[in-house]
Amino acid sequence: MLRSMTEDISAHLQDAHIPSLVCALVHMTGDTRWLEGPQPVYDFFGDGQGDLPPHFVDDVRNMAAAAMERYCSGAGLPPQPAPATIRRMMDFIAGAEIPEDYVSFLTDELRLEGGDTRKPEPVRTPQRVAVIGAGMSGLLAAIRLVQAGHDVSIIEKNEDVGGTWLENRYPGVRVDTPNHLYSYSFEANHDWPQHYSTGDVLLSYFQRVADKYDLRPLIRFGTSVEECVWDEARCCWTLHLSGEHAGTLDADAVVSAVGQLNQPRYPEIEGRDSFAGTAFHSARWPDDVELSGKRVAVIGTGASAFQFVPEIAPEAEHLSVFQRTPPWLGPTENYHDEVSRGKSWLLEHVPFYERWYRFWLNWTMTDGILDAARAEEGWNGPKGTIGAVNAELREALVGEISKQVADKPELLSGVVPEYPIGGKRSLRDNGVWIDALKRPDVDLVEVPIARITATGIETEDGVHHDADVLIYGTGFRASDFLSGIEVRGREGHSLHDRWQGDARAYLGMTVPDFPNFFMLYGPNTNIVVNGSIIFFSECSVRYVVGALAELDRQGAAALDVKHSVHDRFNERVDAENEKMAWGQPGVSSWYKNAKGRVSQNWPFRLVDYWNATLAPDPEDFDFTPARPLRQAAE
Ligand code: NAP
Repeated sequence: MLRSMTEDISAHLQDAHIPSLVCALVHMTGDTRWLEGPQPVYDFFGDGQGDLPPHFVDDVRNMAAAAMERYCSGAGLPPQPAPATIRRMMDFIAGAEIPEDYVSFLTDELRLEGGDTRKPEPVRTPQRVAVIGAGMSGLLAAIRLVQAGHDVSIIEKNEDVGGTWLENRYPGVRVDTPNHLYSYSFEANHDWPQHYSTGDVLLSYFQRVADKYDLRPLIRFGTSVEECVWDEARCCWTLHLSGEHAGTLDADAVVSAVGQLNQPRYPEIEGRDSFAGTAFHSARWPDDVELSGKRVAVIGTGASAFQFVPEIAPEAEHLSVFQRTPPWLGPTENYHDEVSRGKSWLLEHVPFYERWYRFWLNWTMTDGILDAARAEEGWNGPKGTIGAVNAELREALVGEISKQVADKPELLSGVVPEYPIGGKRSLRDNGVWIDALKRPDVDLVEVPIARITATGIETEDGVHHDADVLIYGTGFRASDFLSGIEVRGREGHSLHDRWQGDARAYLGMTVPDFPNFFMLYGPNTNIVVNGSIIFFSECSVRYVVGALAELDRQGAAALDVKHSVHDRFNERVDAENEKMAWGQPGVSSWYKNAKGRVSQNWPFRLVDYWNATLAPDPEDFDFTPARPLRQAAE
């Protein structure tokens, strides 16, 4: 079958990402001269091809076609390139000298040896582990815990897996991390239909993974965890469940994978309950809502509204978009584009091409822009900037945005934020947002809302905006970590009492006095300008599985992080977050909690999280020995 495909190889190669193809070519031929010629030079607004000269690109394509012909006819591959060559390939594809302290991290991400290098070793004494949530990170945790031999139960409030991709069904919902990166490292998908696929495609990916790893029999669907109580005598957690599987469940360890972005936040606006028409939150989009011929009001212009407004604008009779703060728009030309057949073919068939393509995507999103989001000490530049790189980027983005509103310049102030770039997550823009705002039947309303009435929204200038349908694109109660779940640890300590609305944890995962209790996507593990959240979850899960392996090694029953370790870590996080664009005093977002502390974001580099979570340091924890306590209880 592959043989017949080779006839199209040259055509497929037209769609290649050339720097990735160069690396694949080195694998296929053992010839490293491709690395010595022209080097990719990337432009922030470019096509990602590295501006390589046409004759070089032609040569690479021709040599790759010949190498693929040989490979498809059964010729083997030369031995793997030596580590020093791999290192050169990394620099080549990055178009930069990769700092030495990234190399182990990037090598782990690259996984040239194939297979699933992060699969854990089985433990000697399996634990009963309860995982709360069957979304992206809960499924991941369950896969790894089962592989490590544990006895896993998953509790899921919904009737299916998928978490955020199950709940967010608004028109236009799609991932905003490139899809060939937004997938588990061990479950690559060569068939993403789009570079940023839609929510239903993402949902079916996670459903397929759940089926492949046979996780459904472990899941109690339609069931919520109300309370987790640590039983000191038995050294285990008791979970109190409501819903379809109401009752209790004992577990030696608990992994919360409830996400940060699933408790809708409704704004506190006078008269909210008085609206007589249809009103709903973007994450609770009704299946049967009819917008055609309706006057629709949308409150909010964050990531969700940014995706659904362009979709519903042509349908509604009139759309009023109420904006408090505009988002930054990051040019992404291929945001809605299909992945070409050639590109999918290359990912599937060309040896190592997919690995390097993912590596490149990962590198482009690693930490390059993090410096632009960090405030320079003593900076005294233009308003809305926090440093020279930040100011440069602002100028470039404003230039791009200005082009889009050249025919309607009065719109410019409504689409350029005053806060610095990096203050909030910038949104992927291919022009459809501004096109929607330019429509004659769409109003961008920037006058603050005074109240909601039975028939619409009144703004502070006294204007009443009539509406039949009111959509809240107002985000989530993200800083209410573990909202709705009472967690009682040692000596009956309540986690929520401890936090007082200001959630903190060590590495986002563990809290002193709450033994064997772990959180995924917990406090200070959200990212704004770098990385993919799946990367973070994989790091966290490796750490959690490692913590249980450490218990196994020591023959201990429980571990909880030392207060000093937890506190020192949080001091470092707070100090660094204060330097970041999202931590600046004038910037408000869901990254800050009611106390004004940034409780969501990881302010350091990705490589720092990777290093910190490779394996737990036993010195960071107090261990509870297994037998004496259990025997005493018996
Ligand atoms: P969001 O980013 O929190 O945006 C909420 C919007 O509502 C903001 O524009 C906010 O204005 C506005 N708002 C809140 N209260 C208001 C009030 N009282 N009056 C007027 N406006 C008000 O929520 P989201 O758009 O649902 O996105 C949340 C997060 O989910 C994103 O940051 C992203 O991490 C994730 N997400 C990801 C994707 C994706 O990957 N494709 C898609 C959607 C969401 P202010 O900015 O002034 O507060």
